[in-house]
Amino acid sequence: MPQLSPAVTAMPRSGIRAVMDLAWATPGCIHLEVGEPSFPTPTHVLDAAARALRDGHTRYAPNAGLPELREALAGKVAKRNHLQAAPEDVVVTSGGIGALLTALLAVAIPGGQVLVPDPGWPNFAMITRLAGMEPVAYRLRADTGFLPTVNDLEEAAGPQARVLVLNSPSNPLGTVLPEPRLAELLAFARDRDLWVVSDECYDEIVLDPADGAGHVSAAAVAEPERVLSVFTFSKTYAMTGMRVGYVVGPPGTGQTLAKLQEATIACVNTPAQHAALAAVTGPQDAVGQMRAAYRDRRDAATALLDRHGLPYLRPSGAFYLWVDIHDRAASAHDFAMALLRDRQVALAPGTAFGPTGEGWVRLSLATDTDLLLEGVERLATFRAA
Ligand code: PLP
Repeated sequence: MPQLSPAVTAMPRSGIRAVMDLAWATPGCIHLEVGEPSFPTPTHVLDAAARALRDGHTRYAPNAGLPELREALAGKVAKRNHLQAAPEDVVVTSGGIGALLTALLAVAIPGGQVLVPDPGWPNFAMITRLAGMEPVAYRLRADTGFLPTVNDLEEAAGPQARVLVLNSPSNPLGTVLPEPRLAELLAFARDRDLWVVSDECYDEIVLDPADGAGHVSAAAVAEPERVLSVFTFSKTYAMTGMRVGYVVGPPGTGQTLAKLQEATIACVNTPAQHAALAAVTGPQDAVGQMRAAYRDRRDAATALLDRHGLPYLRPSGAFYLWVDIHDRAASAHDFAMALLRDRQVALAPGTAFGPTGEGWVRLSLATDTDLLLEGVERLATFRAA
């Protein structure tokens, strides 16, 4: 057999995989390792998908997405994200992952460096490699509240630096970048002439303040001509399996972004685009209800951790809780595997998100409350043992 692509075979497996493999083989396991909303997709969204199928919308859509969906998304980002984008520069993608791939391919030059957060979502580095570029981690430090600083970026960026990936609200940390800090990071990008890929897949899941208005979009703060903004329906509308996301590019970039859809997927599944249109134009009650439930779960889980004296980073966005296990001798990986074996609770070792995650574990608040609290209780008693 001829050799498989070394770029792909050398790609490391996600550090959550080992835990997931064992978790699925563990009867009665409590799953706190994955970021999958426990809520059903809203009924009117399901109805729109079913109607689209029955009405024969089973053919190709335009590469860039249904025009009415792009129009609605331009309206959504104007209202919710304060981004002034023409519908022509909004391109519908296969989930947030497709939006990231599109954004990174659109700005790729061979060997260019992409600054990615550590701890950060592992797919940033994987997609960077697929785009023929080199991921370079910038460290997020506990003593700066795990928020990136210009110093952290300066330390990481070499002469080949080409792209800065920002992620707010953050997976795995739950941090939300405040506007003044965003402005500093964007000034750095301007000084170094970097593209910015801003992953805002959790834009509607801001837990403080209560109305969810705390998320600030990078392109709304400064440098909109160098920012590609990445969004998804997966988390906001509990539509992970529908695979609909979108990328908003600077003026005039839509055709290039659409060309990438033509080359990779032709178009996003047409019935799913009709479902997405119903999601973004229909009632938004479910979004607020889910956000409130994540907030309640955060508060209940952190109260339990407080009672047991377990330190953690209080998340203000997304639906993850970053728990400190530094006083355990085991590595985060060994700790996660032992917790799974001894107490049947699966969570993600911090090192799955980069070496700076050593001494931490991530658990997901997207799980049902009863299971979540039982899992946290077992984690706390295991750690104390
Ligand atoms: N970006 C971040 C930070 C994520 O955590 C995820 C999913 O976990 C995604 C993007 C991708 O979402 P999607 O399922 O829409 O591809």
